Amino acid sequence: MERPLPQPDPDTEFFWEATRKGELHILRCRECGTYIHLPRPACRECGSADLGPERVSGRGVVHSFTVTNFPLPGYEPPFAVVLVELEEQAGLRLVSNVVDVPPDELEIGMPVEITFESVSDDITLPLFKRRRTHGAEAPESAPTLWTEGTKRPPRSEGRRRPSGREAAIAGVG
Ligand SMILES: [Zn+2]
Repeated sequence: MERPLPQPDPDTEFFWEATRKGELHILRCRECGTYIHLPRPACRECGSADLGPERVSGRGVVHSFTVTNFPLPGYEPPFAVVLVELEEQAGLRLVSNVVDVPPDELEIGMPVEITFESVSDDITLPLFKRRRTHGAEAPESAPTLWTEGTKRPPRSEGRRRPSGREAAIAGVG
């Protein structure tokens, strides 16, 4: 089965043009600096229509994810649809996939960075991979999402449980 591809239109052409070059561009308000995704004609903060694409770092964290156990064209279940929050702005989120982390090892808050996969002449998909961090910013230890059949950690005490995670996950447990 073929994976259905996004269809660029005049509003999103800049986005796909950038990913073809291995860059992530997000629409930004030139008045107040707010990033806007998905593209829309005016800034939702200040109402300005003076918007233009700007390159962003491609770094972010897993905001939430949904594990799907049903086959979809081009995807082998189980796979995770991941909402990544970019570091440029709270609430600036992209729906994507994390390519190098199995669904049962994903966790909320996991640092990720952009990677690109060319799937046709026109479309290069922005995907994410695990970002190695140095220092205490984010521990890369055992996964904190436990599903049926997953080996539990030796101790569960002191394990942080970010709020809202349960509500953010569907199809697990
Ligand atoms: Zn604005």
